[in-house]
Amino acid sequence: MSQRLRPVSPIWVAGRPQHGEEEFFVTHPFDESPVGATSWATAGQVEAAVAAASGAARECAGLPAHVRAEALEHVRRRLDEEAETCAELITAESGKPISWARAEVRRAVSTFRWAAEEARRFGGEVQRLDTDPAADGRMAIVRRFPRGPVLGITPFNFPLNLVAHKVAPAIAAGCPIVLKPAPATPLSALHLGALFSETDLPPAMLSVLPVPDHRAEQLVDDPRLPVVSFTGSGPVGKQLLRRVPDKHVTLELGGNAAALVAADYAKRDWAAERIAMFGNYQAGQSCIAVQRVFIEAPAFADMAGRIVECVKALPSGDPNDPSCKVGPLISADAAARVESWIEEAVDEGAKVLCGGSPRSGSLIEPTVLTNVRPDAKVLREEVFGPVLVLASVDGFEAGLDAVNDSRYGLQAGVFTESLPQAMLAHRVLDVGGVVIGDVPSFRADQMPYGGVKASGVGREGVRWAMDDYTVERVLVLPDT
Ligand code: NAD
Repeated sequence: MSQRLRPVSPIWVAGRPQHGEEEFFVTHPFDESPVGATSWATAGQVEAAVAAASGAARECAGLPAHVRAEALEHVRRRLDEEAETCAELITAESGKPISWARAEVRRAVSTFRWAAEEARRFGGEVQRLDTDPAADGRMAIVRRFPRGPVLGITPFNFPLNLVAHKVAPAIAAGCPIVLKPAPATPLSALHLGALFSETDLPPAMLSVLPVPDHRAEQLVDDPRLPVVSFTGSGPVGKQLLRRVPDKHVTLELGGNAAALVAADYAKRDWAAERIAMFGNYQAGQSCIAVQRVFIEAPAFADMAGRIVECVKALPSGDPNDPSCKVGPLISADAAARVESWIEEAVDEGAKVLCGGSPRSGSLIEPTVLTNVRPDAKVLREEVFGPVLVLASVDGFEAGLDAVNDSRYGLQAGVFTESLPQAMLAHRVLDVGGVVIGDVPSFRADQMPYGGVKASGVGREGVRWAMDDYTVERVLVLPDT
């Protein structure tokens, strides 16, 4: 299938379009055809972006709320107008099925809308101090002020909306931001740079710089960027945290998200459809894709049968086909790793309920396994591929323990209609979010989102990221 080759995308250095030293192609993961090109930022361009962000920090912090909100509104409107073009760009660079790419654009629109609203709302609070005789005649105003320029680093799997989750809250909070997109998928982020150049914001407020990872480390180390907001894999995130322990670092890392199905959950068709779809959407390349499925024993055989039927019915293949639900992985190497983990599990005794056939390039057939050993990689590690592992559990509380038996903790989905079970799950599950009656993969862009344990530190979801990028400072005033 031939792809449309776009003009070379400029990089954005302090709001200005430039070209870097060396051009590189961005290729389609489905057939490896070139779909666009851009260039690596030079050391001089990186320095110019950081110096400009640092120099503009005070001006950006003092921008009126309506200026920040109107810029965010402008970008929201332009994304909405260009939704189909943006979706095609996402599919071209990431291999995400076009229907999911459209959904990602809708979510990015929503992220910018929320950021515009929060820019207007973000105020502070007045506190009484005269609760104690020693503070009679005084009051306090608590406001949050920008910590300074933000370095945002993003992964390949949501090339637009995860960039939006760094950029929109930074602008809303009055922080300049230097954004380093994933090398495999820089085009959507660069397009966002173009939309911001149409606004009245100080140009230094946003740079979008494709840089190789060694130059990204220099950005991480740079003291003029006191906030590092990273979304990506655990090993890289932990390494960054060790590099700059004194910076304010947010880590949105991976997981092996679980769904738990209660024995008496009545809507079994719904649960099966959702588990099948969200174990495989984006070919499993989502940090909250369903990976582990625990089903109370009396429902296991029936639920497993329904899930397998739903997985077999998922259309997979060419992501440009509107009916496609499961596309390729980001690369043939990524698919080879997932294939080897499936083979390893099967060699150790796992039973294949469907899928499991040899990969075709970057395509992996959606696969459902059971009888998996507790220490198998497909259970313990983040698969990041279209693989579901089903297991039977003896009782609801044993199911909660099974969900918690992971070094990760991002989100969990619990299919129950019992309010006490829902409240118990919320209380005891060691994750950043519990979704009742649905898969762990549910995310609304305004809700707090992030993990515990090896899944990260800090929260995104526009308001929470704004909290992260700012710090409270108290003003004590006479109140007489
Ligand atoms: P990755 O860690 O390989 O790369 C993420 C980003 O870090 C990329 O931009 C990459 O170029 C950059 N990077 C790599 N090495 C670096 C270094 N030494 N210094 C500075 N930057 C460096 O991750 P990926 O493969 O792009 O994305 C997949 C991972 O992201 C999965 O683990 C997934 O779970 C995770 N993820 C988490 C969330 C979340 O919100 N928790 C969301 C999406 C993806």
